[in-house]
Amino acid sequence: MEEHQTLRLTGRTALITGASRGIGFAIAEAFARQGANLILTATSVSGLQSAKNALDEFNVNVSTIAADLGEPDEIDSLFATALEHQPELDVLVNNAGIHIGKPFTEYDMSEFDRVMRINLYAVFQLTRHAIVHMQKLGRGKVINIASTAGKWESPNQAAYNISKHGVVGLTRCVALENARNNINVNAICPGLVETDILKSMDLAAEELGVTPDELRQTVQAQIPMGRFLEPDEVAHIAVYLAADESNGMTGQTITISGGMRMG
Ligand code: NAP
Repeated sequence: MEEHQTLRLTGRTALITGASRGIGFAIAEAFARQGANLILTATSVSGLQSAKNALDEFNVNVSTIAADLGEPDEIDSLFATALEHQPELDVLVNNAGIHIGKPFTEYDMSEFDRVMRINLYAVFQLTRHAIVHMQKLGRGKVINIASTAGKWESPNQAAYNISKHGVVGLTRCVALENARNNINVNAICPGLVETDILKSMDLAAEELGVTPDELRQTVQAQIPMGRFLEPDEVAHIAVYLAADESNGMTGQTITISGGMRMG
């Protein structure tokens, strides 16, 4: 098979949050396949080790750092340690996220706070570290994994929706401020992707008095393509956004959703 050269990430070094599984791991694998060196982070040490082991075959440099993005001090030390491991860091993928689904009036403030800390404050804080570093380096790519919930209304997940709208706003502001700095800042807005995060749908099924399968079928029927996405379908866009081919693009929010929410 003819080797595809145009999207290669050789020479790039990416810090990927939430890289132990789901979309974050798919991005790590896609980046490794294109030759990028990686720094993977998540809370689970064993999850990170499994992810690293699974990337062995690509012969790229992979570091792992466990950190809880809900703790601001851990974010500061995560970034400092990342630079000690791989000083040429020039790609940041803010992927880690949590979902708590319930009606607006039923959230307690500690739940709202937890979602905002991990999904938004951590993105702000880590991106600020990365931008300062990338400005010195003279180049950089920031890729934020937001959601269709970051661009449109959605039921029974106000905290998540608000956090993702914040990520979209952050993407645009940081992109604008760094448009002349050779730093691109873009977001991907996935619809429903087959990962552990969808387990919250099983809980919702219980509350609605239907089986998880019945709820999945009902939800899938509302997607024009009639299916959930696979994590690697999101990862392919991240590869493009990390590569030179996307150098002219900044402040954009790319939706991938099987046709939900066109336009
Ligand atoms: P997932 O399978 O649940 O993976 C979440 C990742 O984030 C894991 O690696 C997890 O690792 C890490 N993480 C969770 N809490 C953390 C914390 N406090 N500190 C550090 N890392 C933490 O979720 P996913 O579906 O791949 O989601 C990835 C991103 O895509 C999220 O931002 C999500 O909002 C977004 N998204 C997902 C969908 C979807 O349908 N799946 C749709 C739209 C957007 P540990 O457990 O080891 O910490």
